[in-house]
Amino acid sequence: MNVLVLGAGQLARMMALAGAPLDLNVTAFDVTSGNMIHPVTQTILGKGLESGIEHADVITAEFEHISPDVLALCEDSGKFFPGENAILIGGDRRKEKALLDNAGVKNARYHIINTSEDLDSAIKKLGFPMILKSALDGYDGKGQWRLKRQEEVTSTWNEINAFLQHSPQGKRQCIIAEEFISFDREVSLIGARNAKGEFEIYSLTENIHHEGILRLSICATENEALQNQAEVMFKVIAENLNYVGILAIEFFEVNGALMVNEIAPRVHNSGHWTQQGAEVCQFENHLRAICGLPLGSAKQIRPSAMINIVGDVKISEHIMRLAHVHWYNKSPRPGRKIGHITVCEKTTEQLIETFEAIIPLLEKEQFPALHGIKIREHLTLKKKDEHP
Ligand code: ATP
Ligand code: MG
Repeated sequence: MNVLVLGAGQLARMMALAGAPLDLNVTAFDVTSGNMIHPVTQTILGKGLESGIEHADVITAEFEHISPDVLALCEDSGKFFPGENAILIGGDRRKEKALLDNAGVKNARYHIINTSEDLDSAIKKLGFPMILKSALDGYDGKGQWRLKRQEEVTSTWNEINAFLQHSPQGKRQCIIAEEFISFDREVSLIGARNAKGEFEIYSLTENIHHEGILRLSICATENEALQNQAEVMFKVIAENLNYVGILAIEFFEVNGALMVNEIAPRVHNSGHWTQQGAEVCQFENHLRAICGLPLGSAKQIRPSAMINIVGDVKISEHIMRLAHVHWYNKSPRPGRKIGHITVCEKTTEQLIETFEAIIPLLEKEQFPALHGIKIREHLTLKKKDEHP
């Protein structure tokens, strides 16, 4: 079977690697250059989306910031999963918020901003501090502002106004103001749903960010109540979208209760641990779901944690002896994810030991969120005061 992925980054690459043993040939459409490429070798296979669509049995996407024309073309082919609607919702915070509200899924209170009067109304409604996020094109914390007090309102509005003026033509950009959530933790749930409505859902993952970029994901299994809560919300959203493929949902946890931060209609960075830590990884399960093959087990097979490699970083051989290293064949740039390290062990105690052996081998400036982490607390997802 031929699978066409919209987007030619590391997620398409990891789908191609996972698809090969199932004889699934994955090609990628680079939306920037308009080239069809091989996602592993980056070889250019030709130009033009139309022939790519024609040769594909199934089409999917590795990211949600894709032009509506491209999405419509793919949708018209009848081969696109999870499809135009899910990608459009994932790529526009207005649509995402409306989906969550309509599905009755808890999320942060918000107000839509187009003018400075809207910002004043948002302040009345939500108070300080608040987070302002661009509705379109945001990722890794880009297109976000934090507004803490009245004195910052004018300067923040000037920045936002300039941002809105420079939005690409034809895009209905705006800002979503969100109440600031003092969360205890950020977690995500990743799962597959197939066309029959069957699910395979992975264990909750705790995510630690620095400067808006995911740095560390820890698969945690001991908090059944939180897992169940997340799964209920996951199923409501996936069913509402009649979703087929891997869906990722990011949550804030406040006092043991979850609220949705955002959804990603695709395979997700916080699920990379499944490559070594689960029976069947998220990339294979995405392909299985969209190609109409049976879903594979999402069962966790061993304690796992994933560390993102961001920027110009070299990894020592010593780390390769202790953990799995996965490079994306990308030239380094500040803030760019170029690979990841997955630490897996048979037992939680061994994972803690290995993780603690690896941290001193990673430079603090290059891995800013890792030093000082108490990995044991994160692995169990227990409340901080439940630890001795
Ligand atoms: P991604 O790369 O995951 O798509 P993003 O840039 O699209 O991220 P968010 O996930 O909405 O945007 O925000 C990035 C991070 O900012 C969150 O992971 C969280 O740490 C913080 N954040 C976002 N919204 C809020 C909020 N309402 N209150 C507190 N912190 C928030
Ligand atoms: Mg996010």
